[in-house]
Parts: sequence; C-alpha cells; structure tokens
Amino acid sequence: MTRVFLASLSTALLTTIAGPAWSQAPAAPAAPAPAAPAAQPARPQIETKKVDGTENVYIFRNGNHQAMFIVTPEGVIATDPVAYGRPTGGQQYIDEIKKVTDRPIRYLIYSHHHFDHIAGGKAFKDAGATVVAHKRAKERLEVLKHPNTPVPDETVDTNRTITLGGTTLELNYVGLNHSDSTLVMRLPREKIVFIVDLLPVARMPGRGMIDFYPLEAEDSIKKILAMDWERLIPGHPDSGGRLGTKKDVEQQLALLQAASAEMKKLGDEGKCWDTAEKEFKLPDFASLPGYEQGLPFVARRYCGLWGRGT
Ligand SMILES: [Zn+2]
Repeated sequence: MTRVFLASLSTALLTTIAGPAWSQAPAAPAAPAPAAPAAQPARPQIETKKVDGTENVYIFRNGNHQAMFIVTPEGVIATDPVAYGRPTGGQQYIDEIKKVTDRPIRYLIYSHHHFDHIAGGKAFKDAGATVVAHKRAKERLEVLKHPNTPVPDETVDTNRTITLGGTTLELNYVGLNHSDSTLVMRLPREKIVFIVDLLPVARMPGRGMIDFYPLEAEDSIKKILAMDWERLIPGHPDSGGRLGTKKDVEQQLALLQAASAEMKKLGDEGKCWDTAEKEFKLPDFASLPGYEQGLPFVARRYCGLWGRGT
C-alpha cells in the first residue's frame, strides 16, 4: 500500500511541476478517485470580466489562474500576470486591459512570489509599470533570476496604501501563511479583497501546501476575517468563478484547524510519516471539490509539523 501511495503522490508532484496549482483541467489523479469530477463546460482560455456592482474593478482570467485589475482616470493598477509557461501571457493580459481603457498601466503588484501567478511581469515592466511586491518576494526573485519575472521596483514590509485616480488600494502583509510573501490587497470603498492561494473558495487545498506555514496561517486568516470586506477574489476561479465570502474563509479556517488537530493526534502517536498519511482523513470536508487529490498534500504538510516539528 505504501508503495502504491508514494507512487500516486509522485505522480501528483510531477503534475505540480507541469501544471498550475489546483488545476481544474483533467490531470492524473493523485489517488484512485471514486468519482471523477464532471467535465467543465468549454470556456475561452482568456477572459476579462468587470466585477458586478463596481465601476472599475476587473478580473482577468488566463486558464485556471486569475488576477484583479483596477481602472482609474489616472491609470491602471494591475496584479499578477499569471503567465507561467505562457511566453505571451503577460502581453495578452496587457492587450485585454487596453480593450477596457487607454490609460497607462501604472502599477503591477505581485500577490506573492510563486511563478504560476507572477511570471510574465516583464511585459508590464516594459510597458512602464512600477512593480511592487512584499520585500521577501524581492529577496527570493533576486536569487532565482527568473527570465520573465522582473524583480520588484518597490517593496512592502507590513502595509502600504496606493492611491490613484480616486481609488485606494491597501497592501497588507498579515504574516506567514501560504507563502512568506503574501500580500492581502483590499479595496476599502468597494469592500473587495484579492487574496491568492491562501483561501481557495469552497475547495480543498492541495499542492500549494508545499511551502505552507500551518500555525501562522491560522493567525493570518483570523486577521483577514477581522478586516472590513464583503467579497473575496481568489487567484483561481474556484467554485465556478463565484467570489468568496467570510463564510468561505471561516470554512477554510475550520478545515485547517481540523487537519492540524487530526494530524497532531497521529503525530503524537508516532505515526508520521507513512502510517499517519494513510490514516489521515477529514470526513467533514470530504464533499469539497479536490478533496481526494488534495488530502495527501495536506497530510504531508501537517505530518511535517506534528511529526517532525517543521
Ligand atoms: Zn502560491
């Protein structure tokens, strides 16, 4: 069983390298899935939509990744190029923005340092945008020298507010969580937040657990719940593109707390890695999309915490 399990897991890890996190595209299942999800209806590779109830907030989607951009009379604030493995993806995003406005793109903000969200920034930099990210993202990118992902021009330590053409966008660092460089972006007037990968909407976490900070993430999520907002734009069109609510965030927090408690029990019994990872289940969340595929990644991360202290 162990060998079968590990073989399944390495298939999933290979899929990680080849494809985007939480891809909804058909992929080799990490474990024998009892029922494959229904085929997604055909949708265009690239799509831009204005967020209902706003005059200026848009979602740009490329495949299974998406980003927020805001149009103001003085220019555009864009986020995440989402062009990993898509050499023309950054320019295609710019072309979509140009269909909405002829104002210049003034800022490009990275949500965190993961390439599946920020590769493609070069096109924005070449178009004159100032690239902004958390300081830890800059430190990482300086080392990695990814060809299509420029190092930020400006960094955020804990908080920064960008004001442009009557729009205010807060950039908040709320601690270690999905990465060590996550910025929570909040539009106070629109009561919208853009948070990438930390809070999948009505979906099981999965491959993104690889550099997750389990205990610190719970603190981050509590801080996010305490902020004033009504709708959450996630970095993946989870739940059919529906925006998240505080209820969704509470569900993710409950899931992480349940995972932590369950694995602590197994870890304290000395069962990490193999036995614990086989026994680990989260029955209360078994109906979430991505449950079967995500469970081994969640188990591995929490075994690291409670079985090893990492
Ligand atoms: Zn990520």
